Formats: sequence, C-alpha cells, structure tokens
Amino acid sequence: MTQHLLSCSDLHISFTLPDDRIAEAVRGVSFSLDETETLGIVGESGCGKTVTALAVMRLVPPPGMISAGSIFFDGSDLLSLSEQQMRTIRGRRISMIFQDPMTSLNPVYTCRSQIKEAIVHHDIARPSEADTIIESILAEVGIPDPKRTADSYPHQLSGGMRQRVMIAMALSCNPRLLIADEPTTALDVTVQARILDLLHGLQSKKNMSMILITHNLGIVGDIADAVIVMYAGEVMEYATLRELFDRPMHPYTVNLLETIPALDARKERLTVIPGEVPTLRNIPPGCPFHPRCNRAMPRCAVEHPALSSLENGHQVRCLLYA
Ligand code: SF4
Repeated sequence: MTQHLLSCSDLHISFTLPDDRIAEAVRGVSFSLDETETLGIVGESGCGKTVTALAVMRLVPPPGMISAGSIFFDGSDLLSLSEQQMRTIRGRRISMIFQDPMTSLNPVYTCRSQIKEAIVHHDIARPSEADTIIESILAEVGIPDPKRTADSYPHQLSGGMRQRVMIAMALSCNPRLLIADEPTTALDVTVQARILDLLHGLQSKKNMSMILITHNLGIVGDIADAVIVMYAGEVMEYATLRELFDRPMHPYTVNLLETIPALDARKERLTVIPGEVPTLRNIPPGCPFHPRCNRAMPRCAVEHPALSSLENGHQVRCLLYA
C-alpha cells in the first residue's frame, strides 16, 4: 500500500454547544496528500475547512474535539501522540499560516525575535547563527530590506509585508507540509497574486506539500493538484484540479465556479449563491445543500447522499449521481 505524506480518514470533529448538545462541525472527512502535492480545500466560511486543518495540527479549540477518525502524517498516527511529541511536529514539520497576520504575529515583539523563537525552539540554529538565517529567509520571501524588516514591529509593515513575514516564519523550519488558511484574503488583489506566486514558487523550491484553504475556487486553479469542496462539514466533491474544472458535478461546486470574479470588466454583477451556509445548530436533514440547490428534488430534503466514487478518482456527494 502506498504511504501518503498525510492521510485523514473518516475525520469527525464535534463541539459541545452552550445547551450541552453535541454538534458535528466536520463529518466523515477523508483525504490524502503526497509529497510535493497541493490540496485545495474550498468552501464558504463555516463549511469546516479551517477546523479540518486545525485538526491536522491537533489544535482544534475547545469546546471542540476530534471525536473519531485517524490522521497519519509521515507514518505517525498524530492522534495517538502526546502533546509534547506533537510540539516537535507542529511548526517544525507541519506549519500553518493564517488569513490575518496581525492575529498571529505578536505586536510587542519584533519580527526578528518571533522568527528567532521558532528556529531556536526547533533546534534549526543556535542563537548566534539565527540572525543570518532570519535575514536570508526574509530575503527568500521577497522582502527587499531584510535587516530593517527583521527589526520592525508588525504594525510598522504593510499587510503584504506582514504576510511575507508570516510565510518566512512558517518556512523557517523547512516544514514538509505547509497549511495556508486563506493566506491572501485580507490583502488587495495585486498583493494577493504576488503572495500566491511566492507560495507556489517556494513550494516547488523546497519540495513541500501544501494544503491551501480558500473560499475562492479561482485561487486553487493556479496552484492545486487536487481539490476538496466542503459544505456543512462534509466533502461534497473531491477530484483532481483538472477533473473538477473540466467536469464539475456537484451543484455547489458549479455554483462556486460561477462566483469566480470574471476578468471581463463589462460583467458588472458578481454571481452569488442564494441563501446562507447552515450553522452547526441548523444543518438541514437530507442533503445539507438542498435549501440552496437549484437542482434539488423532493427526495433531497429527506435522503442524505453518500459520497459516490466515479471514474478517474472523482468523488461526489449528490443524489443526482447516486
Ligand atoms: Fe442538490 Fe439534491 Fe444533489 Fe443535494 S442531493 S446537491 S439538493 S441535487
């Protein structure tokens, strides 16, 4: 059997609600990722993308917990490791960058001291060598004056520069897997494109694997090898990038493709998917997407579709294909 770099199987993540009811934010999610591959996880906010990624880092915030399933990374069963063992993996072999660097960078420390903490903690360098390494990583992520930026506080930098510092910090320990959670959402469009190019370039240079989480299918179109489309905590569609773009099957995926902003300036109105993503408290019975689905049939309100495997490894959860 081929061993994947990362393999999540039948992952369930549940939260205890204030009224003591248990609600599942992630329900039976399975996927795998090989060396140097990029997996896009796509869906609107509240679909369970981020909490799935946090589960890989074993960082699901309480009152949430991984209630079932398995996560294997590089041969290790992550769910059976002690917290101390997990700390040697987190940041060192799996790193994560977040949407808003201001929430991840500590405002009271310079960028230098924050990157230094990561590389000294993980024994990447002795404190005496750290400065040279920090400045070379900052140069690698395209920061023009690495020494000055290293000695700056996060608030002294632009949004794009802060995100580059976050990427430098995440890459400082040469992780094998980088998880990028909406890494460009807080940035304006031209900076977004540069940061995505940077991530893509660094990934091939460093032979890393990457999970790219985004609400925008257009973003994964330039980078991912395979894509998972999530909705209400479940995988709705899972396919290679080419398959998904050439032959989207799930009505939600089709809708997401329609919401990609067109480059055609004459198209004035953006397409939106009507309705709202259900909250943990009100996931509809049957197909969770049925209240918003333009192809819904009467049975969709009562029958929960299973994930069907079709040709070319394409998987879809929809009664149209069951
Ligand atoms: Fe739409 Fe029914 Fe398919 Fe759900 S199962 S996506 S409601 S057609």
